[in-house]
Amino acid sequence: MKNLNKLYINGEWEDWSGQTLKVHEAATGEVMAEVPAAGRAEMDRAVDSAHQAFESWSRTSRDERLAILKQLLDGLNTRAPEIAETVSREVGMPAKLAGQIQAGMPIATTQSYVELLPEYDFTEQVGNSEVQYAPVGVVGCITPWNYPLHQVMLKVVPALAAGCTVVLKPSEIAPGSAFILAEILEGTDLPKGVFNMVCGLGEEAGDTLIRHPRVNMLSFTGSPQTGHRVAHAAADDFKRFALELGGKSASVILPDADLKAAVKGTVNNCLLNSGQTCTALTRMLVPQEMHDQACELAAEAVAKMTPGNPLDEGTRLGPLASAEQRDRVFQYIRLGIEEGAKLVTGGAEAPEGLDQGYFVRPTVFGNVDPESRIAQEEIFGPVLCVIPYSDEQEAVRIANGTPYGLSGAVWSGDADRAKRIAGELRTGQVFVNGGAFNPKAPFGGFGHSGIGREFGKWGLEEFLEVRALQL
Ligand code: NAD
Repeated sequence: MKNLNKLYINGEWEDWSGQTLKVHEAATGEVMAEVPAAGRAEMDRAVDSAHQAFESWSRTSRDERLAILKQLLDGLNTRAPEIAETVSREVGMPAKLAGQIQAGMPIATTQSYVELLPEYDFTEQVGNSEVQYAPVGVVGCITPWNYPLHQVMLKVVPALAAGCTVVLKPSEIAPGSAFILAEILEGTDLPKGVFNMVCGLGEEAGDTLIRHPRVNMLSFTGSPQTGHRVAHAAADDFKRFALELGGKSASVILPDADLKAAVKGTVNNCLLNSGQTCTALTRMLVPQEMHDQACELAAEAVAKMTPGNPLDEGTRLGPLASAEQRDRVFQYIRLGIEEGAKLVTGGAEAPEGLDQGYFVRPTVFGNVDPESRIAQEEIFGPVLCVIPYSDEQEAVRIANGTPYGLSGAVWSGDADRAKRIAGELRTGQVFVNGGAFNPKAPFGGFGHSGIGREFGKWGLEEFLEVRALQL
């Protein structure tokens, strides 16, 4: 990465001499980079450049856009090790996993649109009408830090495939991979101004983007609090918007499940990326009579998650991305104890010998009241709540009993029963008996988890307007 303290506007890297934002290495707390704290003027220029580029980019053929996506795919493959290491250091995910997920998912997403684009019908005949799907215009993309490039790609790739132009404001906590993306796109035949990237604080650079009159759509991933602001700004100007927000997902373990496999699967999912995952299965619902055994199994699974520097080979659990996030998680762990949940393992402290950086002991609470704050609010750290239930109906009620609805899981020895219960969960995706994540299936939330869907044709259609020609 040679362009860190720069802005990428209208196909050029602009030097930045204003205030900067420090990016901290999660495992040490040391400053690993400085990036621009760009403001309103820079964001205005980026939007103007995307606006100007839209006229010709929106008229390109599907083949022209496909050619760019293929070049992007090559670039992502070439720079995958650098992407993985950058995100691992910023966010704390163990390096090997970061290679598979933080660098691997952007490749999988791009590949999926390389396959989808040639097959997608941008026109459709309905009686005497030709229905046309047209790019929505300039898209403002705002993204968080936990899967920083993955979340960017779920917006940028379908937006470009649809014929939209883009202004990206990446997370200021983990911006490095967005710079790598801009460098890759600079090396493709993408016309100037189609993709622009401006790094800065949410309250300034982000706020300018969401209120900009020349932005036609906002695509946001992040916290529900910022999601509200985005939705309000969009409403003020009748902009289109898509929101991917938080979660408090339930893993429902039925009495006939393989308890050991179900607990292991839930713990591994909950602790993925140190719990900094919007889809994390953070509530484990178990039959009352299996509660104590489930807690023991969860503690055993957690004990295998060796904490350490994410760049060390033996590490299975890294730190959190920032001091602020670590302190927030500590507060939630103290709150859980105050609320009367049983501390099975963990606590509000760093694992032994890991006082540098932003480490938190992986923590399991048992006998958690489903209405308590630790069971209702997104903690975004390595904290699992075990909640006992008395019967299937109560399990479904508890699973559906938060404002969120992003993900979930059901475990049962009876596949039909598992599928039936999965169909009762008010959530955007459900993992049935450990089913694999599918990057071609729709992803998004019910309720406070968001509005709209990403991945596959659903993700593409977020960026398309519909026009009917009456013939
Ligand atoms: P955040 O909302 O604080 O920040 C997200 C982005 O919004 C950042 O780029 C930030 O600079 C920007 N921003 C902040 N204030 C803004 C403002 N006033 N105007 C415009 N932009 C502003 O979220 P975060 O802390 O970076 O990420 C964690 C949250 O994201 C969690 O709640 C998590 O569940 C959620 N998340 C959801 C998904 C999903 O797909 N549903 C994926 C990942 C993360």
